[in-house]
Amino acid sequence: MQSMQMQAVHCFQITSPEQHEYRAIIALHNTNLGPALGGCRCLPYDHEQLAFDDVMRLAQGMSYKAALANIPQGGGKAVILLPKNIPAEQLDRHFLFSWFGQCLEQLNGQYITAMDVGTQVSDMDTVAQQTRHVASASNIGDPADATAEGVIEGIKASLDFDLNIHSARSVNPFVGKSFAIQGLGHVGWRVAKAIQHWGGHIIAADTDEEKCRQAQALGMKIVSSDSLLVQSCDVLVPCALGGIIHADNVNELRCRIIAGSANNQLADNSIAEILDQKNILYAPDYVINAGGLIFASMQYKAQCQLLANGSEKINATIDKQITEQINAKILGIYSTLMSIFQQAQYSHKNINLVANEIAQQRLSSEINLDPSGKGDVYDAA
Ligand code: NAD
Repeated sequence: MQSMQMQAVHCFQITSPEQHEYRAIIALHNTNLGPALGGCRCLPYDHEQLAFDDVMRLAQGMSYKAALANIPQGGGKAVILLPKNIPAEQLDRHFLFSWFGQCLEQLNGQYITAMDVGTQVSDMDTVAQQTRHVASASNIGDPADATAEGVIEGIKASLDFDLNIHSARSVNPFVGKSFAIQGLGHVGWRVAKAIQHWGGHIIAADTDEEKCRQAQALGMKIVSSDSLLVQSCDVLVPCALGGIIHADNVNELRCRIIAGSANNQLADNSIAEILDQKNILYAPDYVINAGGLIFASMQYKAQCQLLANGSEKINATIDKQITEQINAKILGIYSTLMSIFQQAQYSHKNINLVANEIAQQRLSSEINLDPSGKGDVYDAA
């Protein structure tokens, strides 16, 4: 916890009426720029320590993500540890997410939750019955569209940089290129369809057979999850879970670029150095997948202002303005990444290191977006 300079870690535990034991961990990495905003994962973990490691790395990633996207939020994340012996259909989601909402309420808005792997909009609606610190209930919606749009911008920037087009966007860098996509979930599916629309060839893998069947029906080539990472392709697009590129497989990769939505794709920072030596261009995950954070943060802020004004619905003009602002910021992922690639090239440092240094500099600088010093709490009350 100290090595990551985590601000706080909160642990909660409850036994349900059916005697199921649930635990939740909320990690707050840094709230210098504002209250922490980050998704809630709901998964069975093999070991509690793995859940701690996951939530702390993810929380740090959220701080870096907000800093590089110039979003006035801090970094935080939550995990709910599911007992392994309960089949999904026996899970009392209403009980679980009501309890999680009560846990959040105790943190007084220091942490705003959202969807992540294993959670859905309906779960966030349940959380919203207990607390207003939720950024992807149905009044705001699923951030996956925004995340996927940002990933597409990031892949464009990576392809343009790789093609040596440093100053202007190429017309369509996707056409004729091959993309190996791991995970066809909320984000991966949208990314796959967009790439296909732009003329790219898709090789994909998902552990869910139904998703593979749907992809195959659209002409995507399906391979096993194990072999996906070592497919010969232009761009490897990780859109499942983290830690997938590690010392044992990094030398087997046969791609020119890695650019996808999954958080914490590299097992550790040493992998970024190896990728650099192998001339594989890596788009740092927290930069390329910031679209969802941008969307959730700006929509949440708009909802809070709405509540503060005593209105029930955002009018069409303001709604259009917010959408335009979100889109403009998501388009900015292209130039942010391009600038990081260029800085890495000029400084002879690996790309991940350059991105980390920029994020750390912004987090430690005196910039606090709220002159009161408490951060931009967006309080509606
Ligand atoms: P999701 O749960 O909807 O999709 C993940 C998909 O990966 C599922 O279809 C699952 O079956 C598949 N999968 C799991 N293990 C796999 C494996 N070993 N091989 C192949 N497929 C596998 O999640 P999502 O919302 O699409 O998010 C995907 C990743 O992007 C996650 O790492 C998430 O943290 C990150 N992310 C998501 C968002 C967002 O807006 N949803 C924002 C930022 C980052």
